[in-house]
Amino acid sequence: MDNNNYGSHRPRKRVSRKTLRRRQLTALFIIALIVLLFVILVANACSKNSKSGDGSKKAAATTTVTKITTTTDPAITTTTTTTTTPADPVNKSDFKLDKQSVYISVGETDTPMVQAYPDGTTEADERWSSGDKSIATVDEYGHITGMKPGVCYITLRSAADPDQEVMIKVTVRGDDTTNGTLTPQSNTAEAPAPPVHDDTEGLTYIDGILVANKSYSLPADFDPGLETICYTQFQALTSAAAKENLNIWLGSGYRSYHDQEIIYANYVKEDGKELADTYSARPGYSEHQTGLVIDVNTIDDAFGATPEAAWLAEHAHEYGFIIRYPYGKEAYTGYKYEPWHIRYVGSEVATKMYKNNQCLEEYLKIKSEYKE
Ligand SMILES: [Zn+2]
Repeated sequence: MDNNNYGSHRPRKRVSRKTLRRRQLTALFIIALIVLLFVILVANACSKNSKSGDGSKKAAATTTVTKITTTTDPAITTTTTTTTTPADPVNKSDFKLDKQSVYISVGETDTPMVQAYPDGTTEADERWSSGDKSIATVDEYGHITGMKPGVCYITLRSAADPDQEVMIKVTVRGDDTTNGTLTPQSNTAEAPAPPVHDDTEGLTYIDGILVANKSYSLPADFDPGLETICYTQFQALTSAAAKENLNIWLGSGYRSYHDQEIIYANYVKEDGKELADTYSARPGYSEHQTGLVIDVNTIDDAFGATPEAAWLAEHAHEYGFIIRYPYGKEAYTGYKYEPWHIRYVGSEVATKMYKNNQCLEEYLKIKSEYKE
């Protein structure tokens, strides 16, 4: 058995060599297949990247981007730089804004103006959102407010056409630049009394304060917009809150007579007149029409339990604001507790009311009741 033709070479080995060769070939084939697959995948990814722009705005903002400079001859295309910084998003929409980027300080506000809308989209379809509310917030009207230094993107979408969106790069400048230019009002600084519109008929001023409650209405044509002093003082307030890491933003500001007509009619349709009257004003009776009112943050009872609401209740008067419908004062104000609704009256009056724990109706000794 040992003396066979194979001599010292054991048959096992010869078979093993053949098998080995076969195995090597198979392995090579598999490796070749993997390489081929890899090449196909890479080629695919490359072709997707070159098409980016419409569908991959968010990806473009975070990944490495190759800038391509095209000369008049499309054949001569030179690839120049490769950047690793976040790229500006590609805006492929029919929105036309007066600016694509915003530079603000903490507490400062800027508003890009919409110059043209996509077909079928109107002002009412504007939907603003912030990519990072800790850096900059945006309200329903596109007022962008800096919260802390950094960069983020604000998006404007069309509610009528979800494909239409435009992004605005927001840079909030660092603290060292804000300290010199934007000094928030301190407790000692005086927040002046609001302006008096004595050229408009049908307004009720008591002790220099414009009154709008269930007993005193505003004429339909009174349309002052958000008063500058109210807005400026609100910015000082948000800026001071931001220094304590509190995020207070403008949720809703001025509402015209016509705006309120629509809002109130909707609530009556939903809840009936009796219930709607406890939380929403009839047109002409809304304090928002004075231009001296801001609803901060989210209009929700839960806001009352936030540190922002606690800070607001303690400090609003320093900036000239009062919590207009305080807890436990429903019988005077005619409205349930609204921790988010602040009214500008100037710091002198606001501080008096704060110290005496009075609401506006108590302070002015007036009623707030509908006649019918
Ligand atoms: Zn309000």
